[in-house]
Amino acid sequence: MASTESDTPVWFITGCSTGFGRELARLVLERGWRVVATARKPDTLKDLVAGHDGRGLAVALDVTDQAQVDGAVRAAEQAFGRIDVLVNNAGYGYLSAVEEGEDAEIRAMFDTNVFGLAAVTRAVLPGMRARRSGCIVNISSQGGMIGFPGSGYYAATKFAVEGLSESLSKEVGPIGLRVLIVEPGPFRTDWAGRSLKQSATFIDDYEATAGSRRKQISGYSGKQPGDPVRAADAIIKAVQSDNPPLRLVLGRMAFEGVTGKLRTTLEEVEAWKDTSLGADFPDA
Ligand code: NAP
Repeated sequence: MASTESDTPVWFITGCSTGFGRELARLVLERGWRVVATARKPDTLKDLVAGHDGRGLAVALDVTDQAQVDGAVRAAEQAFGRIDVLVNNAGYGYLSAVEEGEDAEIRAMFDTNVFGLAAVTRAVLPGMRARRSGCIVNISSQGGMIGFPGSGYYAATKFAVEGLSESLSKEVGPIGLRVLIVEPGPFRTDWAGRSLKQSATFIDDYEATAGSRRKQISGYSGKQPGDPVRAADAIIKAVQSDNPPLRLVLGRMAFEGVTGKLRTTLEEVEAWKDTSLGADFPDA
């Protein structure tokens, strides 16, 4: 990548108060690049961006607020001239069996995890298209590939992120832009702690499935095997690669889960091949 300061890559990252977003912003600054670190509470970013010769810019951004989305992207482009890498990281989980789910909570999570991500993407794309260069990193989850009991609605948001990102990659690839979908397993951030929401209702019939997973997830906060600093480093490596993947799985648990899911899905689809092909008109 370029070496003079005005030429260093500009990263724009959502949700930098804690976790992946914060570690990524820190590593980007450590490498001497520029970062627009955004958060709902910009006070949480003061120490992160301080003292880097103006290479760090802290901007208020709730991704569900369209005016803030437009304002943050404008502020980034005014300060640094462009955005090279957008990281749609802001997001959170909501645990509940499907039947236990509360409509307002489900819609609020979709507003952040899906519609917020899409709004920021739409705001950043015109600049990237004009320059025929840029990379969009969407933080999905192993839950974007696997539906676990107790996190059906979270999985629905991350499956939506996967579909949107895969389509986007096919639209922007031919004009020189790239998309990277990141699928972490459990990482030691605030995800399973202060950020996690749960439905108020518990139905006994789901105790062994959704209920047990709720306990498992709440219990492992702070003890997850994934290291967010190593994750941030891996994301930078994939963004910089000359041969980047569309999907980057992070952590052993996610690697085993995602590869297992893909294998069993292929076996199942192939086992029903005759029935599948038999659904076409005979002369088609
Ligand atoms: P985290 O430490 O809880 O960080 C989440 C960040 O998202 C916080 O900065 C939070 O801001 C922000 N956020 C939430 N809603 C927002 C909104 N409407 N607008 C702007 N920012 C918002 O957890 P994390 O693990 O780093 O999460 C980052 C991403 O990784 C999420 O998309 C999550 O789903 C995904 N992920 C995490 C794991 C894991 O195990 N850690 C696994 C798979 C995927 P506030 O401080 O204002 O709440």
